[in-house]
Parts: sequence; structure tokens; C-alpha cells
Amino acid sequence: MKPGLLCFFPALAFLLALSAAEIVIKPENSVISYYNSRDRIVAFDLKKHLDLIFSSNIPVTSDGKPPEGKFVFHVGKLPPDAKAEFKPEEARWLATPEGIYFYGDRNSGSRHAVYNFLEDELGVRWPEPGEIMFIRPSPIVLGKVSGAWTPPFRVRGIRGRDPEYRLWCMRMCFGGHDQPQVGHAFTDYWEKFGKTNPEFFALNSSGKRAPALKSGNDTDNPAAFHGKNSQAVKMCVSSEALHRKIVEKWNFKEKRYINICENDSPPIEFCSCENCRKLDPVRATLGNYYPDFLTDRYVYFANAVAKLAVAKRPDARVCYYAYNETERPPVRERISANHTIGIVPTVFTVEGTEKLLSGWKKAGATEFFWRPNQHTYFNSGCMPFGFEKHFFNILCLTVKHGTIGFDYSSFRSHPTLSLSDYVLAKGMKDPSRNYEYWLDHYCSAFGESAPYVKEYHEYWRRNWEKRIAPHLDEILKKGRYYNFVRGMMWGELAKSFEESDFDATDKILETALSGKLSDSARGHIAKMLLANKHARLVYRSIALKSDENSLALLKFREKNNIPILFGREEKWGDPCEIKTILALREYDPPFIRTNLFWYFKLDPSDTGVKEKWFEASVKTFSKNWDGMLPTDSFWENPPPRWKQVSPELRGKLKNYDGTGWYATGLKVPAEWKNRDVYLYFGAVDESCWIYVNGKEVGKHIFKNSYDWTVPFGIRINDGITNWDSSVYQNIIVRVEDKAGMGGIWKRVWLVSKAGK
Ligand SMILES: [Zn+2]
Repeated sequence: MKPGLLCFFPALAFLLALSAAEIVIKPENSVISYYNSRDRIVAFDLKKHLDLIFSSNIPVTSDGKPPEGKFVFHVGKLPPDAKAEFKPEEARWLATPEGIYFYGDRNSGSRHAVYNFLEDELGVRWPEPGEIMFIRPSPIVLGKVSGAWTPPFRVRGIRGRDPEYRLWCMRMCFGGHDQPQVGHAFTDYWEKFGKTNPEFFALNSSGKRAPALKSGNDTDNPAAFHGKNSQAVKMCVSSEALHRKIVEKWNFKEKRYINICENDSPPIEFCSCENCRKLDPVRATLGNYYPDFLTDRYVYFANAVAKLAVAKRPDARVCYYAYNETERPPVRERISANHTIGIVPTVFTVEGTEKLLSGWKKAGATEFFWRPNQHTYFNSGCMPFGFEKHFFNILCLTVKHGTIGFDYSSFRSHPTLSLSDYVLAKGMKDPSRNYEYWLDHYCSAFGESAPYVKEYHEYWRRNWEKRIAPHLDEILKKGRYYNFVRGMMWGELAKSFEESDFDATDKILETALSGKLSDSARGHIAKMLLANKHARLVYRSIALKSDENSLALLKFREKNNIPILFGREEKWGDPCEIKTILALREYDPPFIRTNLFWYFKLDPSDTGVKEKWFEASVKTFSKNWDGMLPTDSFWENPPPRWKQVSPELRGKLKNYDGTGWYATGLKVPAEWKNRDVYLYFGAVDESCWIYVNGKEVGKHIFKNSYDWTVPFGIRINDGITNWDSSVYQNIIVRVEDKAGMGGIWKRVWLVSKAGK
């Protein structure tokens, strides 16, 4: 190189000179300085990391004048001679013997620079929100003197709410620039234009151009459509007046994007006017979920708005979601060049994703981002499904198709699942690396035990590939509305796991724990082991259903401060049977469910006691009684699906108040002879008397207004004379209902506990 040339490249000469020198961080002589309030959070997060790594207490200044002679971490300051020209969100850092500069694009460059430095240069890892892991370096000699990163996507994020999660998002360099505007676009329309411009609005099922009716809202009062009610508004997308209004309202000087996303909350009633219907290539039923196919009418809508918008601003873009009724690509309409589409997939296979994306591109889509919101349905919080690589591969596929970014709903909520969000976050940061690279990156947080943490995740990945992925569609179908976890809970879990899987993975984690570990790594792996043990018990209580298994799960949750009803279990019908076990826990397993259907006899004149109906026996029930009734619903309205209940009996009971008798035969285990045996009633409305083999053994009398909901147990030993297991005991219950619903409306159990 000619000497003169150096004069043209002073910054380069500066860098070359530096790289030869060793830069050593001396924490005791360091200070952090930030120059703009927007860098405050990251400056203090930098301090938090440095203090942890160096066991120091580095001061932070913000007056722009860090003390002289110190090694300064400059957050948001250009190094001498650096040019202040950057690509959007571009981040740079540069180390000199006097300090380190974190700088870049004004909005987020310095922030991204700090986190890149911590991760790449100091080896920090954030496996999940709230965790900071690192291998303590000593002495702190920097391997590199500079670093740079420019985001490969305009939109990067996984949605999460709590403050620790938001901090994790910053550390993952989430964010964006030139981001499309999406979300419910028309929530204020009815209030503003409901009276003046009914033609903007969907023709609803009651023949009015107004929001869908639901109880408690009055469409004649547009001002009432705030908050949740505003979600009921849907538009007439063929209305040219609406197209003009949207473009008129658009702040085109400041924003190039126009959001035309519809509301999505039920009741969903798309416009049923003839002009809108004409736009559908297939006649839709309207007012239903997903089976409807309305993409063409919405692409028509987007084209119409886009045409008006480009006249005002040539770089305008119209934004909308490919979502539910509009998820599949249009069949007739062509997508004009200036659409930005947020694709919300309900396909979760690589092939399905490929088909969906190429379909949209074939229809003319040029710009899209990936918005999987139903990934929350893959988050059980309790089972290690091993799908991380699968979903990483789908992310890679969208990259191949040229996505501009990602707006994910989170998978995670549990230590066994933190890898899933981690690899997606890293794929957004640098999609040129493959899954294995980011898996190793994640596992490196665990130091010596990295190979075991990796083996743990690889074990479950192989299980996904071998036993879950091949019947993914079946699972989604079983779970309804693509709800993967619900499908698993409702029966598919048994096919996907085995007891030996948990033996193997527990062992891997136990080995991992025996290594030399930092406190944070040990804490994380201990949580993983606890989660794995919990997963085994969930598996057992669902796939190997038994009262013992459910009870063991309940006790494990109580002991380890895990919520008694975990995640969405309650909403999904208590698949682990925890609620039942909770109610029966003062007894000992097994808990025997009595028949769902018992014989029933009406007693409108209440002569049963006098006529000694309680002396009836199993042999005569079927002949002399009125029929069968389920014991899990009120006698007024047994579910229509139960064909065991005759139409005649249904008719008699429709509005019945008075006395009725239930009867069944029960076999009691002989080994319970020396125990206290109970009939446990989930609830009876209102009062009842219980007879065993003709003898009254107890009663439950309605006294307090809530007594019809209260469970109770009745000891029945006194009525049992023959303890042979093969003998049917005659169980008869007289129920008296004075008003409202009546009957045995929650299941009856046969249980026992040690005798006194
Ligand atoms: Zn219409």
C-alpha cells in the first residue's frame, strides 16, 4: 500500500493500528456513559451484564462528560472519524484502548450493538426471559475490535407481555423499520359513520347495514360501540364510498401504509349484500368461521383501495391479513403490486406451508410477512413435544419465499420449551445459519453440560419426527380449530409418548446436573428436570388413566408450587382429572365411578315412602320404573344425545318439581369390608335420602341457598349385609326438588377410606 493512500482512508488506518493491540477491559476503571434518554434502558442492562460478569459495580453517567482517564462504554456515541450514515437499524461497535463505542442508526443501532457485543464478544446467552448466562472470562481480552449487524428483515418479533419477556425481546434484537400497519382497522367506523353512511357497513343477518347483533348492544346507538363492542363491526367491502372514505382518512403524508384488516371477534357476520356476494367465487354461508372462503372479495377490496391510494402517493401499500376466511389465496382476483399481506397460517406442515406461500405468490403477492398466531395452540406448557426444528424449518421456508419479517405468537411458557422461541428469534436475526448452529448456540449457555442439554432436545426432536409429525393432521383435527395441545390432551398423547421416554430424558438431565455448572445453568437444568418429571405425570394421568396417576400428579403440583389446574386444562375438560381427584382426595384410590344411567321413577303424589319403594331391588327396577336418567344432568333437560332417555320420560320431566327416585345396583369390593365405604355425590338438587338394600343410611337436606351445588359423602356400611364382591347392592336415592332444576346432576362415586 502506498503511504499516500492512508490519507484517504483515515478510519481504516485507525482500525488496522488497533487490531494489533490487545484491548483489555478493566472493570474497576470502567464507566458506562449514555447520551440520549432512549438509550437509558440498554445502558443499565449493559451495566447489569458487566457487573454480573466482572463482579463489579460500574457507574453509569448520562451528562455527556464521562470522567477522564476511565475506560468508557459509550452507548449511543459515534467514534472519532466515523460517518453518521447507516442503513435502517444498522448496529456497530468499535473498541479502542480508551473505550468501546456502541452506535448506529439513531433509533435502535446502539441498542442492537450492545446486545451483539455481549453475545458475540463476551459469550452471554439468554436462553429464556429473565436468564443471563455466561462463562466468566479472565482476563477480559477482546478477541475482536469491532462488530456490525444489519437486520435481514423489516419486521422481527415474538409477542409476549411481561416485562422480563420484553427485555428478552430487546436482547434478541427484535424490532423493525418501515413496518406495515395491521390490526383491526375499522373499530371506530360505526361510531363515526353509523348514522351518516350506513352503506359502509356489512348487511347483517337481520337485514340491516349494521354490526352483528349480540345481546346487550344496541346498533341504533352507534356511540355504544366502544371497546369490545366495536369488534362487532364489519364492512361492506364492495362499497365504493367506503373505498373513498378509507383513502380520504389516510394520513398519506406521514404513512405509506393503509390498514384494511377487518375485526375478527364473534359474532362474525360478513357482508351479505348482492354486490359483495358476487365477488365470491364460491357461495359462502357467511357468519361462520373458517369454512368460508372470502379471499377474492377481500383482494378485490384491497385492489380498489390501492388504486385510489397510489394516485395520492405512488409508493402506497395496502395491508391486510390472510386469515381464517381469507387465508387461502384468491382464485379469481389478481393481487396488484402494492399489497403487503400478513399470512396467518392454519397449516403447520412444511408441505402445507409451501403450498400456501406459492399459492399467494402465484396470485401476484409480492410482499408478505409471517404471522402465525395459532402457535399458542402448540404451547401446552407441560409436554416436551420436540417441534423446535420443525418450526425453524418452516421459518426457513418463508425466508426462501422472500418474507419481509415475522410477527409470531409465542410457543413458550415452560423450561422445556424455551428453545422453541430461541431458535425462531435467532432465525430472524441471522437466517443464514441452520437449526443445528442455533441449537449449539443455545446449549452453549450450559457450559460443561451443553452436550447433555443438546441430547435432551435431540431426543424429543426425534420423537416428534417419528411419532408426532406423521399424524399431525389427525391431532389438529381431534383438537378442533387447529388446537394441537387439545388434540394431544384429548387422546393423541398415548400414541406419542412412552414411559421409557421419560426414563431416558430424566437420566440425561440428571447427568447434566452432575457437571460443573454456573448457578444459573444449574437452576435452568433443575427446572427442566422438574418439568420433565411433571410431563411424565401428565402423560400417565391422560394416557394411562387411573386415579392413582391423577392423584400423584396433583400431589406433585402441590409440592412444587405448580398451579393445580395447569395451563388450559380447566377449559379443556380437566383431561388429567385433577378436579375430580381434588374433590375425592379425603378418600383413598381407587375411586369407582357408578353407572352414568340410573333407573328413575316419578313420585308426583309422594307416596313412595309409604309404599316402601326403597325396598325395590335390582331385579325389579327395569320392570316397574319409568326408565333411565343420566346422573350428570338435571332431570328437566338430559342432553338430547342420550337415547337411553325415552321421549315420554323427557316430556314428563320437562318442568317437573316434586319427588323422584333413582336406583342402581353396585358391586362393592370385598376387601373394603373393614373400611368405611361411601357414596360420594358431586351434587344433588335439592334434598335427598339414601337407602342401601332397603335401609336408610343417610340424607342430605337442602338448607342453605347454595346446597344444591355442594358435594357430599354418605357412609353406606350399615346397609351392606353381604360383602361378597359378586353381589349387587341395591342403591336407591329419593330426591325432593321444590323449585327450579332438580335431580342428581353431578356424578356419583363409590369410594372408601380406612375405618376408624
Ligand atoms: Zn356488501
